[in-house]
Formats: sequence, C-alpha cells, structure tokens
Amino acid sequence: MRPAELRRALQLGWPLLLPTGSVEYHGPHLPLGVDTVLTQELCRRVALRIDAVIAPALAYGPTGYAVSGPDQGTVDVSTERFGRHAKDVLTSLWDIGFRWIIVVQHHQQLDGPEALAIRQAASEVIFERALQERGPGWWGRAPTDPGDNAFQRIQLWPSVLPPADQIVRLADHAGFYETALMLGCAPELVALERLGMDGPWFTATKDSRARDATPPQGAAMWDAMTAAWVSALQKLTKPPRPTPDQLTVTGLF
Ligand SMILES: [Zn+2]
Repeated sequence: MRPAELRRALQLGWPLLLPTGSVEYHGPHLPLGVDTVLTQELCRRVALRIDAVIAPALAYGPTGYAVSGPDQGTVDVSTERFGRHAKDVLTSLWDIGFRWIIVVQHHQQLDGPEALAIRQAASEVIFERALQERGPGWWGRAPTDPGDNAFQRIQLWPSVLPPADQIVRLADHAGFYETALMLGCAPELVALERLGMDGPWFTATKDSRARDATPPQGAAMWDAMTAAWVSALQKLTKPPRPTPDQLTVTGLF
C-alpha cells in the first residue's frame, strides 16, 4: 500500500485488519505457518467483500512449545516481550489514524498467551492514547460518544465468529477443521499422504480426523467464516441508520 492509498483509506474510515499467527508444528501434513496463513487468508477474503486495509501479520507468537519443541520447527517467544512488541505496533497503527483496528486471532484462541498479551497491549494503548489526546478525566467528563468510543478502537476477534462456529470448531489443532481450511485456500501446502497410521494424536481424534478433510468442506467453512466477519464489520463500521420512529424531532431536522 502506498502513502496516497493509505491517506484515502483513512479519509474513508476503512477498518484495519491485523492478522496474528505463530510458527508451530501442525502435524506432518501441514506447514508450520498454518495459523498465520489462515488469518491472512480470512483478511484477504473479507477485504474482497468490504473496504478494509490489511496490515502485515504479527507472525511470531508465543507457543510455549506446547505442541512440539524446536526439533519439529516450532518457534517460541516470550509472551511478555511479544506483548511489548504488539503494543508498539498497535500504538503506531493508532497514531497513523485508523478508526478501527481489528486484530484477528486464531492460534490458541482467545484465552491463550498470544491473545491475552494482545488484549493487554490493546487496553494499555487505548488508555494511554485517550489520556494523551483528551486529557485527564477524559472518560469522567462526559458520556462516551458512541461514534467516537476509544474502547472500540482496538479489538481482538476470533477467526471464527458466530454463526460460523456452527460448522468450524475452534478447538482443533491440525485435525479435520484446520486441514479442511488449508485445503480450501492453499491445497498445494497440504500433504495428506504424509499422515501415516502413526500420525500425532491430535490429527485423528474421534471428532476431528485430518484425513477426512476435503477442499469442498474447507470452501464451505471459508464462506461461513468470511460472511460472519463481513457482517460483524459492517455492524461495527456502518451501524444501521435509525428508522424514522427512532429519531427524535430534532433528529428529523
Ligand atoms: Zn493452528
């Protein structure tokens, strides 16, 4: 994106989408960057449907080596230092002037160290910047203008929003769901034939067998996830116009 395009997007109030991810072992059949590939792909599909800017991903998140050690390619970083880095990035994105910064979370979902670090960073940026821009007592002075709510300016959303959660289960790691999503967007990165009979347990649980995943199932999941995001973003950035009976007399003039 070039500076003139950025200025135009800011003038038009486009939201900024910030994908996050990790470098983590996802079984013998999927690439290490699955989580980042999926959040970037979601942003790409959303931005085909509505006006939005996509930021470069926060791609190295903490993994805690929960799934594998470095021998299988997993990268781990300190949650605290990741949070400080995320805060620097979010502060700069705020200063650029984005009205809405939506962070896209997939890896370890909403209660993992990566999501918690980002939420803490976002909260700190919101409070620090609001104080700096509006002065002490900024919240206590007057009721928050719904059209200019500092607390809404940075948000962290899961990759799978309702009602897409009816068909995409978030608790999956390299099983049916993530494998189908990868087949639905980057089949050339999937090597199902590498899943031998002795693949890791999480690729073949009772409810989530990577081997059962197909590209059409992945395509249906992508459609549902994208539609849920588009609808949530439209609600956030373009709240429905009030109907005449909701307007006060003053509002009508
Ligand atoms: Zn994953």
